[in-house]
Amino acid sequence: MALVQEITTPTVKYEQPLGLFINNEFVKGVDGKTFETINPADEKPIVAVHEATEKDVDIAVKAARTALEGVWKETTPSNRGRLLTKLADLFERDIDILAAIESLDNGKPLSQAKGDVLNSAGCLRYYGGWADKIVGQTIDTDPNYLTYTRHEPVGVCGQIIPWNFPLLMWAWKIGPAVAAGNTVVLKTAEQTPLSGLYAAKLVKEAGFPPGVINILSGFGKVAGAAISHHMDIDKVAFTGSTLVGRSILQAAAKSNLKKVTLELGGKSPNIVFPDANIDNAISWVNFGIYFNHGQCCCAGSRILVHESIYDKFLERFKERTLANKVGNPFESDTFQGPQVSQLQFDRIMGYIEDGKKSGAKVLTGGARHGDKGYFIQPTIFTDVNENMKIVQEEIFGPVCTVQKFKDEEEAIRIANKTVYGLAAAVHTENINTAIRVSNALRAGTVWVNNYNMIHYQSPFGGYKESGLGRELGSYALENYTEVKTVRIYLGEALFG
Ligand code: ADP
Repeated sequence: MALVQEITTPTVKYEQPLGLFINNEFVKGVDGKTFETINPADEKPIVAVHEATEKDVDIAVKAARTALEGVWKETTPSNRGRLLTKLADLFERDIDILAAIESLDNGKPLSQAKGDVLNSAGCLRYYGGWADKIVGQTIDTDPNYLTYTRHEPVGVCGQIIPWNFPLLMWAWKIGPAVAAGNTVVLKTAEQTPLSGLYAAKLVKEAGFPPGVINILSGFGKVAGAAISHHMDIDKVAFTGSTLVGRSILQAAAKSNLKKVTLELGGKSPNIVFPDANIDNAISWVNFGIYFNHGQCCCAGSRILVHESIYDKFLERFKERTLANKVGNPFESDTFQGPQVSQLQFDRIMGYIEDGKKSGAKVLTGGARHGDKGYFIQPTIFTDVNENMKIVQEEIFGPVCTVQKFKDEEEAIRIANKTVYGLAAAVHTENINTAIRVSNALRAGTVWVNNYNMIHYQSPFGGYKESGLGRELGSYALENYTEVKTVRIYLGEALFG
């Protein structure tokens, strides 16, 4: 099978790389395997890409190790930064292509895909700025010693990313790793391999030395597991389901105790107090659950509304939900495209059926949208109780539940009643309520009077079963550096 193919999307025609990107070259897998990626809007195959197996992971890890100990070690921090900045520029130059690939392969609306490309470029440029600002300390312990710390790269980093933000997760992972002097073997999700491969082409164009960034397409149980079990990978960073996150941690424990960071699931509460600006709150609640078709680990899927505004809220929220246009990702007024795959579609529909059976009421939605493509109607459940599956488990689709609360204490109790702790939001015009409730919520991010507004300059990650460690901001660099203490003795020999 070829290593490149011309692809025509409704907005652009471009050359799609299909190979595994190792040592700055696109190559076939050792076993010669390939797999198809499907367009979720029409359920038809787009193209087949080469598949990495354990043997290819080995080759990529060797390439990354060689680069780490050779050319990358010799590259100055400011040149690392310059390369990341150049890569960010290339992302912006090719925004129309990258966005079209995301819409085609993932199903997200083109305007949202463009937002992802800009955020990816912003993230890469931000970490480009960090590359020459990673510093240790000198510590005055004793006049006879010079003691200092060095923040050194962890080494070869395995990175496993999901399909919901294919390009953005690529940038979140690669930016801090490379800025801190690590090398990378990144596996894209099997549902969405295309944008990561196109970005790999830009890696080469930006001038990164061979072996610093290696991109593999492949399956979780094969290439993903090979990464998490690998004896020569020093760290693994994973974004995906909590179930797989556990297996990554186990694999690290069973192999070489590689460092692990995990960004996992969520069941985030979005709390509306009676003094909230109701128009703004409804707009953010809508965006909180339906953005990216609910396929966000931080989706505001549990909406908690004060009893005094509950009826009014429901009426307005239903109206707002029905105004979201579901359809072709390439049409300019589309807000919600298809779910990414048949499997996801079936999972979500399964939760909807479960909700109906358990006695919850469907206020709107609750069914497939259209008859082709993995489209689901935006769905609101009311009359739920705290123990229902649809209230406790991550659905990862355009489905939310609305619950009533009577006072602040009850809102906090319900909000925190989850095994997850990725995000939460509070809508209120009262600053004291905002601060008190934000402090009481057990979540890695709390938004006040907004939702989903992640910024690459500020950390993101989960409490409880939502993960380990933080991505983004300066905090992400902590996961990509080992701290070494050096103590130099300046005095006479002590023991002899
Ligand atoms: P989802 O259920 O939403 O598809 P997953 O957690 O299964 O999310 O997938 C996220 C990423 O993890 C993908 O790149 C996938 O290939 C990978 N993955 C899945 N299973 C494993 C595994 N057992 N080991 C390592 N990676 C895996």
